[in-house]
Amino acid sequence: MIPGSFAYHRPKSAQEAVALLAQLGDDARPLAGGHSLIPMMKLRLAKPTHLVDLGRIGDLKFIKDEGGVIAIGAMTTQHEMIGSDRLTKAIPILREAALMIADPQVRYQGTLGGNVANGDPGNDMPALMQCLDATYHLLGKGSERKVKARDFYQGAYFTSLEPGEILTAVRIPVPATGHGYAYEKLKRKVGDYATAAAAVLITMQGGTCKSASIGLTNLSETPLFAADASAALVGSDLGRAALDKAVTAAEAQVAPASDGRGPVEYRRKMAGVMLRRAVALAQSRAS
Ligand code: FAD
Repeated sequence: MIPGSFAYHRPKSAQEAVALLAQLGDDARPLAGGHSLIPMMKLRLAKPTHLVDLGRIGDLKFIKDEGGVIAIGAMTTQHEMIGSDRLTKAIPILREAALMIADPQVRYQGTLGGNVANGDPGNDMPALMQCLDATYHLLGKGSERKVKARDFYQGAYFTSLEPGEILTAVRIPVPATGHGYAYEKLKRKVGDYATAAAAVLITMQGGTCKSASIGLTNLSETPLFAADASAALVGSDLGRAALDKAVTAAEAQVAPASDGRGPVEYRRKMAGVMLRRAVALAQSRAS
């Protein structure tokens, strides 16, 4: 449980960080809160020879209201997101989901950027970002680009990040006033990753669902944007028939692993259970 040896670098700007990563090559990794990377290094599942610590880059830590869009810096911690009244007022599902990550100690250190860049299907923020249709801002040496959260994840621990790139910010469109939301997560105990989790955002008008967006956590090699399940809810009264259709679509899309959290069939069923609960709660909160 002791990591291999590595050189430690502490750049003062995002530009300096990407220049360092380009110079140091494939054996270098960005370090954020360290609560995913360091355990992997202790298990020798990751063996970077250089760590580029983003912790002293003040420009990567912010929560800004940009008028219809909230921008969150990559080094903003989960604890800071939970504590932001502005964020909670605009996008309450973020606080709800962040409070289900691990425990306070982890949330004091763990960052939004680390959580979404990690590529671990067990992380809670990626499916939520897909549900919210967030955009990731990526910086490389001499280049900047944007990638939708819905296009970012390619496999377990495999994302659209190019070697030497860092994620600098996440931009999230503010959901409509009166929207309903819920993040429902089944876990074996406090602090555990999800057995299955569902993020739901809906808008209602006169008892009819006008829009729906669903993200699913830890139910495949990547987080999932459940487009078919979302479409099954739109235009309905969110009654039994529409919910059954959405659950059938979600169950058809997921491909969970069989592991300590349960066999495939159980986890597939739990995806449906979490989805039903999240839709019911979101509906009760919508106006
Ligand atoms: P790090 O561990 O520093 O980095 C993670 C990976 O992302 C590394 O590969 C790193 O190189 C890369 N990276 C980090 N920042 C950037 C960036 N800006 N640009 C490009 N690449 C970057 N998470 C959950 O979502 N749900 C849970 O229930 C949960 N439970 C946990 C329980 C325990 C006991 C622990 C220790 C962790 C748990 N986590 C959970 C993980 C936790 O939320 C991590 O903090 C988070 O996944 C990674 O964020 P970090 O800032 O610690 O990133």
